[in-house]
Amino acid sequence: MKKRFIDLHVHTTASDGTLTPQEVVEKALELGFSAIAIADHDTAKGLEPAIEAVGGRGLEIIPAVELSASEGESDIHILGYLIDYRDPKFTSVAERLRRARYERGVRMVEKLNELGIGIKMETVKEIAGEAAIGRPHVADALLQGEYVKSYDEAFARYLGYHAPAYVPKYRLSPKEAIDLIHSVNGVAVFAHPGLVHRDELIPKFLEMGLDGLEAFHPQQGYYVSNHYIDLAKKYGLLYTGGSDCHGTRKGKILMGSVKMPYSCLEALRRRRKELEKGREGNLAV
Ligand code: AMP
Ligand code: FE
Ligand code: FE
Ligand code: ZN
Repeated sequence: MKKRFIDLHVHTTASDGTLTPQEVVEKALELGFSAIAIADHDTAKGLEPAIEAVGGRGLEIIPAVELSASEGESDIHILGYLIDYRDPKFTSVAERLRRARYERGVRMVEKLNELGIGIKMETVKEIAGEAAIGRPHVADALLQGEYVKSYDEAFARYLGYHAPAYVPKYRLSPKEAIDLIHSVNGVAVFAHPGLVHRDELIPKFLEMGLDGLEAFHPQQGYYVSNHYIDLAKKYGLLYTGGSDCHGTRKGKILMGSVKMPYSCLEALRRRRKELEKGREGNLAV
């Protein structure tokens, strides 16, 4: 039988990817994937257009989301797999995060204006289109207005963590993110832990009900991936992996650079069932 492979971490224009859900689907089919998880930041709006675009051509779209949470100064991303993305428990939080991102965009533009940079919120909105507004869209506006020569310069001079136009975004706590994912029948996975350098938090997340670690990621090399597989085994967690493809935003298209076996999806499905049973058990008590 043909070996099936999957990518569990793909972004679209519904957040800060440069490929539309339709383009992501075409790329995944071209590369021979059996399933991909559309895991946009704080939104599930890329899912339905992707599912429609497949049109029965044998590519499974796994409903997912990448929630931003904060723990002290660290940015913690929690992936939610197999979520009931139409559940109002999820959509109401997504809508709240979207509004908060819009307000933050307005404040970043104001700060830039105070620095003498004449960009307008209208331009940022046009660039973002349907997407929830993020720093990448503001960076694109700076580039378009020729205030900077590169995307990296936009972050280094204005939008980066310690730069003058940086505005922190409203974020959930890791517990809120994990609870939200579980409340809509999803499986919660700590995204790219190798980029966060806070392994000491993992036992704490475990107590909050974390289900897995993202061991494979383009920025996590061989040793780092093995380290997280070992940790996952030690703690009885699942391990996953994906390309974190943002289209051409990070240079080349990363889809295809990480291929996970189909069994990884089956493990997520088993975990989802176990969680469901656990909840039913709790109700019976
Ligand atoms: P936001 O969620 O609006 O804070 O934007 C976060 C996104 O900005 C990340 O997913 C990256 O794609 C991008 N980003 C953050 N920091 C940098 C940086 N220093 N250089 C380039 N891109 C960055
Ligand atoms: Fe991103
Ligand atoms: Fe992330
Ligand atoms: Zn991501």
